[in-house]
Amino acid sequence: MEIRDGLGLSPRKVTYLRYFFERGGVVKTSDLATRFGVDPSTITKTLSELSDAGLLTLAPYHGASLSPAGMIYAEFLVKRHRILALALTHYGLSDDEACAEVSRFESLVSRDAINRMCQAMGHPHQGGCGKITHDTGCLGHGAGAGLTVPLPVPKEGEYP
Ligand SMILES: [Zn+2]
Ligand SMILES: [Zn+2]
Repeated sequence: MEIRDGLGLSPRKVTYLRYFFERGGVVKTSDLATRFGVDPSTITKTLSELSDAGLLTLAPYHGASLSPAGMIYAEFLVKRHRILALALTHYGLSDDEACAEVSRFESLVSRDAINRMCQAMGHPHQGGCGKITHDTGCLGHGAGAGLTVPLPVPKEGEYP
């Protein structure tokens, strides 16, 4: 599963990871089931898939917490959500409306697009549903930062 570009997770998994990030620490399966109105057995299956992907650490007694890699990734997912929601509020939607709309399509927007939008918006610190944090992806070296393609370094004498 390719997840680093922001596109490899289902909308439900994105929502769960954002919830883990916002709650912090171990979240119980029963809490997730109540919060999202989903059968606990379905939650257990999703948690084990996220654990297999290296994003969650399963806890004893039916729960899980973000792994270190999951923490970094979830921080990006939260930023993506809030940048997109903030953009929609600039075009007439209320904070709540933007939050709900973005929750339906956020999983389809690439990390590179979010980094560039964040730059163009001047790295806002407050979105409609929470604080926005910035990382080397959006604060880096101009548009396209966060892509892993290294710039070619000319060797001496290579250019006339
Ligand atoms: Zn929101
Ligand atoms: Zn930024």
